[in-house]
Amino acid sequence: MKDQIIPLIDLKAQNDSIKSEVDKAISSVISGNYFIGGGELTNFENNFAKYCGKEHCIGTSSGSTALYSVLKVLGIKEGDEVILPVNTFIATAFSVTLCGAKPVFIDVCEETSLLNPDLIENAITDKTKAIIPVHLYGNVCDMGKISKVAKKHSLHIIEDCAQAHGSTYYGKKVPISDIGCFSFFPAKNLGAFGDAGAIVCNNPDLAKKLRMFVNHGRSEKYLHLTEGFNFRLDNLQAAILNVKLRHLDSWIIKKRAIARKYDENLMNLSLSNSFHKNVEPSYHLYVIKSEDRDSLKEYLHENGIETGIHYPVPLHLQPVFYNIGYKKGDFPIAESLSGKILSIPMYAEISDESQKKVISSILSFFKYS
Ligand SMILES: *Cc1c(COP(=O)(O)O)cnc(C)c1O
Repeated sequence: MKDQIIPLIDLKAQNDSIKSEVDKAISSVISGNYFIGGGELTNFENNFAKYCGKEHCIGTSSGSTALYSVLKVLGIKEGDEVILPVNTFIATAFSVTLCGAKPVFIDVCEETSLLNPDLIENAITDKTKAIIPVHLYGNVCDMGKISKVAKKHSLHIIEDCAQAHGSTYYGKKVPISDIGCFSFFPAKNLGAFGDAGAIVCNNPDLAKKLRMFVNHGRSEKYLHLTEGFNFRLDNLQAAILNVKLRHLDSWIIKKRAIARKYDENLMNLSLSNSFHKNVEPSYHLYVIKSEDRDSLKEYLHENGIETGIHYPVPLHLQPVFYNIGYKKGDFPIAESLSGKILSIPMYAEISDESQKKVISSILSFFKYS
């Protein structure tokens, strides 16, 4: 046991803890012989809408197709611009470019690594149609400021909640504005056994259009009213998600306790990422920052501790975006943070002993112990 690797996240431990419930759900879908549409999917959509405090939920095949579907249905097209943070997963930006629109990046806050709301107004042009705040790491963006500026300029807000299931802002679960997109990629806070995602919203007309869009634009089996495609969530994934959703809040509570332990023990090193004061994060990731990040990462690796970097390259420096008008130096905070941030092991099932080892290894790297 001594030399066991401590992973960044341990999906096996989570799945083992609910194995009999999941097995039952899977065999019920198989024996029901009903794989696409209805049943488990409708159940999950109802349950997840309720969980998020929204009227509607539309299951999708992934978080990426959720984002893309929303932008498409809102009519984002060539010539339009969409504002998003430069530190996020690439899919946030591709949902914009695949609609033919231009992603307009803005820098992040030093303290949180999240989109800096004070930079939005400067980035707005007469082509701007929407803002995509990304609630990275289970933290929540400063939605008060973002909503204000969006309202002033009549912009859509589409919240990328792929890392923030169950995170709250002033006690309210994300999405805080009308539309939120979620990913159920296995390693996310709420993860399927494959790819899956969802959109939640309050607007019934938008929900209806989205439901049609992710299902070939159909209103009936062979009646297609609009263009659409196959971006559906299937019943098997929905059944698994229904089981896991029942446990989500208890996992988040455990993660918050684990985060507090990290906070307390690493406090003197001033390494931790901070949170907006009215946010209760769900801790999809626990991120620390260090000037010595690469050596720290190597040291932890040598000690059997797995870590991650979210994300090592800000989007404007990705080869795919070399030709859209940005250069190194345009986003100094994100560029500097990308060399400092490190995600350390964070999952509800981490043992006391493992967490102690992570903490003592970090402290010994900095020679505090
Ligand atoms: C995971 C993720 C996505 C994409 O979700 P998939 O389900 O993998 O397509 C989008 N945005 C962010 C911030 C993510 O973390």
